[in-house]
Amino acid sequence: KNHFQILIVGGGNGGISVAAQLLNQDSKLDIGIIDPSEKHYYQPAWTLVGGGAYDIDKTVRQEADCVPKQAQLIKDRVVSFEPDQNAITCLGGGRITYDYLIVAPGIQLDWDKIKGLRENLGQYGVCSNYTFESAPYTWQTLSSIKRPCKAIFTAPNTPIKCGGAPQKIMYLASDYLRKQGLLSDSEVHFYSGGSVIFGVKKYADVLNRVVSNYGIQTHFNYNLVEIDGPGQLAHFETKNADGLAHRITQAFDMLHVTPPQSAPDFIKNSPLTLKDNPLGWVDLNKDTMQHNRYKNIFGLGDAGSTPNSKTGAAIRKQAPVLVKNLIHVMEGKSLDQVYNGYGSCPLVTGYGKLVLAEFDYNNNPMETFPFDQGKERYSMWLLKTKVLPWLYWNKILKGTA
Ligand code: FAD
Repeated sequence: KNHFQILIVGGGNGGISVAAQLLNQDSKLDIGIIDPSEKHYYQPAWTLVGGGAYDIDKTVRQEADCVPKQAQLIKDRVVSFEPDQNAITCLGGGRITYDYLIVAPGIQLDWDKIKGLRENLGQYGVCSNYTFESAPYTWQTLSSIKRPCKAIFTAPNTPIKCGGAPQKIMYLASDYLRKQGLLSDSEVHFYSGGSVIFGVKKYADVLNRVVSNYGIQTHFNYNLVEIDGPGQLAHFETKNADGLAHRITQAFDMLHVTPPQSAPDFIKNSPLTLKDNPLGWVDLNKDTMQHNRYKNIFGLGDAGSTPNSKTGAAIRKQAPVLVKNLIHVMEGKSLDQVYNGYGSCPLVTGYGKLVLAEFDYNNNPMETFPFDQGKERYSMWLLKTKVLPWLYWNKILKGTA
């Protein structure tokens, strides 16, 4: 079959959510989902895996088991778009046409932008929670620390998925070191390419207290540029007061890296992207999730240009807006659903402690619960570790939450 009424690029959190919701609205829709991956991952739990608080095997399922039964999974990789012909081309050479297209291929991890990262990841204490393969090594590294140490946590200066993830693992590691009686003689550093700890003041205030309680040293506007694995040295670049770049070097026992990120290359190089944006996101209307130029194309999730924080939580609010607006386009009606930029970040601040940050496009808090979410709470830790994974596999991927 080489034509679908609705074709979805990417069967991750966003792609499966909208496929399931569309089919719940109308089970006769003819939907194809293209994804090259055998596996489907629940990525938010990788933070917990890195902290030794979650089983990695519970974060993965077969992709074919996650796709709604009435949809067809095409196991291939999209390489190019011809939006004027309503067609895409796959790596296997196949060309598929569509009436409507939904683009949700996620974000690209740019490992090669940091010299020495790819070859040293998974050894010498160089770890990252950003992949299924590497997250367990974070815990292996942390749990093998028996003496006071130097632990470094990095965040790049690009947008990333889950803006809080670089810090969450730092707080778990600091709490772990404290429990082992090692924290006061250890050095924990946060090197960030950004300029603040968190974009929403209410949550930044609590995180600044958490940072100071653990004695973490923060360094803003520093980018990790090179790693010497065997020497256990991390090289950072920053700009001095004159705007000139200069390097500093930091020794480490543990280095948790959040890689720079951008839109997948096949999106960057396609007609779907914003013309003047080097990060190459799919050019979407931030209210309606419709493509700004191609009216039969929609998109959602991490690859989209909508300026929300890139999280699964955002997708939960984007998906129903996209689905209703797409159905309206199919029926020749006008679009009436608006996404308000909701994003959420469950900020793990230690074992059994979490601040649930929720906010909109304007960084105004948009909280769900009837209590002050700007406090560390055990109930919110239970939400992250127990409720949300269950909700993901059983409701979100089924289009019922
Ligand atoms: P993904 O779920 O990444 O799916 C993209 C899919 O597209 C994949 O299946 C991929 O195989 C497929 N694809 C890629 N290229 C192609 C191609 N060329 N052709 C076809 N298919 C393709 N979110 C939260 O809400 N809360 C959290 O606490 C949280 N913590 C996180 C912690 C970590 C360590 C990480 C890594 C992520 C975290 N997230 C969190 C973010 C969340 O996982 C993502 O925002 C979400 O998965 C994005 O969904 P998506 O559909 O856009 O992309």
